[in-house]
Amino acid sequence: MPYRTHHSRSAPFVATCPDCEIERSSDSATELVAFYRRHHRHTGHDIVVTRADLEFSAAVTAALDASDDVAAVVDGLDARYGVDKHDSIESGTDGVPIGIVVAAMSERGFTVGETLEAIAGVRMTGALYEPRDDHLAAF
Ligand SMILES: [Zn+2]
Repeated sequence: MPYRTHHSRSAPFVATCPDCEIERSSDSATELVAFYRRHHRHTGHDIVVTRADLEFSAAVTAALDASDDVAAVVDGLDARYGVDKHDSIESGTDGVPIGIVVAAMSERGFTVGETLEAIAGVRMTGALYEPRDDHLAAF
């Protein structure tokens, strides 16, 4: 498990680079992904999410606990974050913010880089798609 850090100001999402000990707090999980992308581009380092305040229903938690597979995690999160497929005038769901997927996978010991790699791998198989920028949905 990633180690936990504590802050005077309690941002719901915190990520750190274990190599530089740089830390970034944000109200948005997606901002942590942007932090990773910038930092990785400059240094090649990976980023670890050390704190993610996510609240899920028992049903979603059970679905998530059943699998480490990123497609299954997206599918489980979609029930919480996605738009009901039948209510949407567009085809399908708006998807799950990629930062939320990264945060949920961090609970399973994945770094940000590992999660993005797993997402890219699953997208190649067609099991995940991007209904809009930085949002994911499972088929
Ligand atoms: Zn670094």
